[in-house]
Amino acid sequence: MKTGIPVFISVEELQLHRILLSEAYAPEVLDYHGADFRQRGELTFKGSAELVGSEIRVRGHLATRLEAPCDRCLGAVEIPIERDVDLFYRPMQEIAREEEVEISPDELDVSFYEGDGIALADVVTEQVILAVPMKVICHADCKGLCPVCGANRNLEACACQEPRRESPFSSLLER
Ligand SMILES: [Zn+2]
Ligand SMILES: [Zn+2]
Repeated sequence: MKTGIPVFISVEELQLHRILLSEAYAPEVLDYHGADFRQRGELTFKGSAELVGSEIRVRGHLATRLEAPCDRCLGAVEIPIERDVDLFYRPMQEIAREEEVEISPDELDVSFYEGDGIALADVVTEQVILAVPMKVICHADCKGLCPVCGANRNLEACACQEPRRESPFSSLLER
């Protein structure tokens, strides 16, 4: 279902009916705001949006493949992303009104929308960024790069000596 027109989830339309969402985004279409990964292959989102009180609820399944550099050796690591989402977006105008109301802990991850609704592209972009692991490592036993010559120690054994750490006890240990 490719229309080429960015999908906008509008409150006006949601007041009439639920919106079914089925979109595919090619790589380079979504803007990840300078994130340290690239989208490899299509990103698909299938789900629906509905109005729950004044909140927009977006539910669905998101799938894509990303590529990010290994934190240790900088080699490319493929990261498959499969994520079920169930998100609530509250109108920004309500913040002012609720200023005095304490936000309960389970409400901390409620997002907000401004104006007439939200762009599906913004929803999926945010979810992809959240799905990327904090640490990206190609293999649990990745040896990383040599701090002296920069060689990839997974591929070659260089002859460098690790720079010795100067500690007040080093002279004692060498005796
Ligand atoms: Zn690595
Ligand atoms: Zn080296």
